[in-house]
Amino acid sequence: MTTERTAVIVGGGIGGLAVAVALRRRGWRVEVCERATEFTEIGAGLSLWPNALRALAALGLGDRVRELGAVEAGGGVRDRAGRWLARTDNAEIERRFGMPLVVVHRADLVRTLVEALPGKTLRPATTVTGIHEDGDTVVAEHDRGSLRADVVVGADGLRSTARSLGWPGARPPRYAGYTAWRMITEPLPAPLASGAANWGRGERFGYTSMPGDRVYCFATATVPAGGAGPDGEWAELRRRFGKWAEPIPTLLDAVPEADVLRHDIYDLPPLPGYVGGRVALLGDAAHAMTPNLGQGACQALEDAVVLASCLDRAPDIASGLACYDRRRRSRTQDVVRRSARLGAVGQWSWPPAAGARDLAARLTPSSATLRSMTPILGWKP
Ligand SMILES: Cc1cc2nc3c(=O)[nH]c(=O)nc-3n(C[C@H](O)[C@H](O)[C@H](O)COP(=O)(O)OP(=O)(O)OC[C@H]3O[C@@H](n4cnc5c(N)ncnc54)[C@H](O)[C@@H]3O)c2cc1C
Repeated sequence: MTTERTAVIVGGGIGGLAVAVALRRRGWRVEVCERATEFTEIGAGLSLWPNALRALAALGLGDRVRELGAVEAGGGVRDRAGRWLARTDNAEIERRFGMPLVVVHRADLVRTLVEALPGKTLRPATTVTGIHEDGDTVVAEHDRGSLRADVVVGADGLRSTARSLGWPGARPPRYAGYTAWRMITEPLPAPLASGAANWGRGERFGYTSMPGDRVYCFATATVPAGGAGPDGEWAELRRRFGKWAEPIPTLLDAVPEADVLRHDIYDLPPLPGYVGGRVALLGDAAHAMTPNLGQGACQALEDAVVLASCLDRAPDIASGLACYDRRRRSRTQDVVRRSARLGAVGQWSWPPAAGARDLAARLTPSSATLRSMTPILGWKP
């Protein structure tokens, strides 16, 4: 007789919900504790690269998510004046990697994951406050009681409680030196010709199509952490980017003032391990990264598929968790480093350095750029 194996998941973001789906598909009983009163996401877009679409396919959700997303014909990098420095073609991404780059609304992805789980597995308004091992089990204490399981997965994000409890010596998240704004426009009368990221001096502004004729915009600026635009974020964005090349001013005009989100950008110094006893860290809790490669959630989806597969195939929990750590740690920490490097260069503000960067981008063939992404985008479950 086999006994049902159980997991408590701390955090019901993209990573936590995805691992819940992955474990349930392998016959595990799961409970997801989420401190917020509902399972949802902020009003912003999310790039899902071929590696993430393959992970979603392994969860049985690949087609559904592709239906919900927009596939831009192409994109690339422009300078502040709108001149192309480098171009990428989504058909070429699909030809090389078998899947395109898809942009979804975050809330749509979370809803799809939630719908793949029975309601009884979801515990909103439940904040985990303690985790301790008890014989062959592990107990997660929360603000309304406790839950016992074979494994606890800490998928509770950048400022993870699971990490601070189990990894007390871990270095705290580090500020990348820039802040990011995100916003979605109202529906536009005409579709975008293509997406792009425009590089300035210590500032960047990007945009990409979303379903429903909307456009997802994102911008960065080198500023001290914790600041805020004195007249509000919308005014700050118009001041910084309102005179950049079209379509940026038109897009800013189509953004509702109240919908601008701002978050300072952090990543996590590398942890020596993602597993401690019967606790595994996953997603941002394990390897929060800067958003420059659009890979944070993609890597969390990969983590979810690999953790479930390792736990399912291993003869015992300890070796299943060791397999997960072995297969995920160096890969994700490499993506953290690459993303940080790209962001540092993208934020260069000293004109000679930024000019050299732009020239290098202009001289690099798009095939070389895509080739350099192969280790990340070519991932298969
Ligand atoms: C500006 C920006 C743009 C980005 N763009 C992209 C992109 O295009 N593509 C991409 O792949 N990634 C992108 N990312 C990264 C991506 O958003 C994250 O990597 C991803 O959302 C991490 O998911 P997660 O589930 O690990 O953590 P989170 O989304 O942070 O979820 C953690 C959850 O845990 C809950 N929680 C926290 N503490 C507790 C507790 N003690 N008890 C119970 N619940 C708790 C929180 O409420 C939250 O719901 C971007 C990030 C930023 C900042």
